[in-house]
Amino acid sequence: MRIGLFGGTFDPVHYGHLRLAEEARETANLERVLFVPARVSPFRLHESRTAPAHRLQMLRLATADNDAFEVSAAEIQRGGVSYTVDTVLALRQQYPEAQLSLILGADALQGFLQWNCPEIIVQECCLLVGVRPSYDLEAILAGLPEAIRQRVQLVAMTPMDISASDIRLRVRTQRSIRYLTPPHVIEYIQQHRLYREP
Ligand code: ATP
Repeated sequence: MRIGLFGGTFDPVHYGHLRLAEEARETANLERVLFVPARVSPFRLHESRTAPAHRLQMLRLATADNDAFEVSAAEIQRGGVSYTVDTVLALRQQYPEAQLSLILGADALQGFLQWNCPEIIVQECCLLVGVRPSYDLEAILAGLPEAIRQRVQLVAMTPMDISASDIRLRVRTQRSIRYLTPPHVIEYIQQHRLYREP
């Protein structure tokens, strides 16, 4: 079984995430893409974030129409700070024979050496990396040790200059977020009055 693990804050999920997941699925012929929202990212300890239940529900709405996509509450249920290495090792226990891939954007690859135990992560997974506008993938790759670089597989995705922070800003300033994230996610944001306060 080929499984892609896609972690993030997903506050909220948007078409940049969905396209990366879909193109990673196609590139690596993945049978399943597991979206795993972080309870608390180690890099965002002091930022306020939307309640995990909302982020989880928006992900469920956004991925419901894709049979290969699944949402996992593993990091949210585990509690505390969310480390990808823990999720990878738990998945490895659950699926000892699976071929695991970690899906990430160029910005995340840039900070990969600061993650907890990156060497264990690359022992267990290859890295499926999508381009992200304003990040120089070549330069990022050149800054990584060979052991990590050789585990990277590039995902030639359509570059999409969409970010969750931009969506939050647009909602706060009463601008449209149409075509940036699926309609069900927009409805959910409106119903629950998310992102109205800074
Ligand atoms: P924020 O704007 O709040 O920082 P974000 O849009 O970057 O959020 P995250 O949840 O932090 O979203 O990202 C999760 C993963 O998705 C990361 O690996 C990130 O690189 C990747 N990603 C996010 N947006 C895009 C995009 N537009 N194109 C490619 N990859 C993306």
